[in-house]
Amino acid sequence: MKNTLQKQKAYFDSNITKSYEFRILQLKKLKSAILKFEPQITQTLYKDLHKSSFEAYSSEIGFVLSTITMIEKHLRKWMHVRKVRTPIYELFTKSYVMFEPLGNILIIGPYNYPFQLVIEPLIGAIASGNTAIIKPSEYTVETEKVLVEMIQTTFDPEYISIFTGDHTVTGEVLKLKFDHIFFTGSHHVGQIVYEAASKHLTPVTLELGGKSPAIVDETANIKVAARRILFGKFINAGQSCIAPDYIYVHESVHDEFISELKQTLIDRYSDHQSFGRIVNNRHFQRLNNLIDVNKVVYGNEKNEENLFISPTIVDQVTWNDPIMKEEIFGPLLPILVYKDLDEVIQMIKDKEKPLALYLFTSHKEVEKKIFSHISFGGGAINDTMMHFSNPNLPFGGVGHSGMGIYHGKYSFEIFSNQKSYVKKGTRFDPPLTYPPYSKAKVSLIKRVLK
Ligand code: NAD
Repeated sequence: MKNTLQKQKAYFDSNITKSYEFRILQLKKLKSAILKFEPQITQTLYKDLHKSSFEAYSSEIGFVLSTITMIEKHLRKWMHVRKVRTPIYELFTKSYVMFEPLGNILIIGPYNYPFQLVIEPLIGAIASGNTAIIKPSEYTVETEKVLVEMIQTTFDPEYISIFTGDHTVTGEVLKLKFDHIFFTGSHHVGQIVYEAASKHLTPVTLELGGKSPAIVDETANIKVAARRILFGKFINAGQSCIAPDYIYVHESVHDEFISELKQTLIDRYSDHQSFGRIVNNRHFQRLNNLIDVNKVVYGNEKNEENLFISPTIVDQVTWNDPIMKEEIFGPLLPILVYKDLDEVIQMIKDKEKPLALYLFTSHKEVEKKIFSHISFGGGAINDTMMHFSNPNLPFGGVGHSGMGIYHGKYSFEIFSNQKSYVKKGTRFDPPLTYPPYSKAKVSLIKRVLK
């Protein structure tokens, strides 16, 4: 590992990764490789998580292809040195911002979108002119294998490398000195990464999780709310960081909402064949322990052998239930009933800041209130998940749900140092800033800086 990183440092120092032409060529190589490996990636995502081809393409393969296409269009412009305004008192001066690559990047990924969540940051690292080492999740072994083959047959290891293994491997990699660590995963491991990074004062992006609420108020379009919440919850069998974790529904529309959820599940989710599977037995057991069978109003069909849990609705849940004590990360949807929106706001604010929040309402005042009173990473009004797929929106958490943003141009920025500088002519050299500092100079500076 040390050897690979040393080679990557030397490669970066040769300046080869910095030109626009090099970066574009590498993005094109990556795109061709993804297209070439598309059938294998689709297969391995099915083997690891039982992802349907639609989910595999829309949330993993097609997702990253469209990011490359977007960056190819804009990269030249993003790389331009940007001229900014200069205050009047800095006479005969021009001011600039230059985006320079950081150097050697480490990317650590989770199991739930095992391809997209390492390739998306990799695209940003390449576009910004860096080298990178990827450490994918060891849980999704088949996807890990295809990632290894794709990366090793596409890039020289001194430019892009991939390390595999369990958390002990990640622990070893984390001892090395990188220029940026991009981590996606749980809060607990995020802390380990942050601590390791602090030894070298390495900047980090931490894309973490948590409990993301959805609120359905009395003015919501209940049919649409049910459909969109179920989509966001049950894609990838609920194993999405921005899945609505739990629902707060107003008591006046509770019965209608539950009946719409049930009907939608019957109409659209009865084919269990195309539904995702839990990644491993440990998580299967963990989820199983969160279910209070007395509160289940739909679902709870299980098959331990093939790690299947059907879409499950748990009603009349309170914060005392085990299901509300941790991020669910599975196909279980708890419903909490509320009367007073202010109490809901206070309850959410008393918890850690969520990664996402979804609001279903047709009331503008409610939109304003929720969005201005509650802090969260990102979200949607009358939808779920969709803020993630717009590359023009920054994606990331806040507080407990993470730090740093990426996607589209934000990925380019996160892996760049914004080097600022001024350029001054030498023909005139006014004496204002030089000693001795007379009273006249003091009074002049007071008039200028106020
Ligand atoms: P995880 O934190 O268990 O594992 C993530 C990575 O960390 C893996 O590559 C693993 O090898 C490594 N790792 C595990 N234990 C380690 C240790 N002790 N030391 C060093 N490295 C270690 O996460 P997961 O279970 O794969 O993913 C689920 C979590 O990720 C959820 O909390 C979810 O919300 C979050 N997530 C967040 C986002 C986001 O964009 N914010 C996206 C997907 C998942």
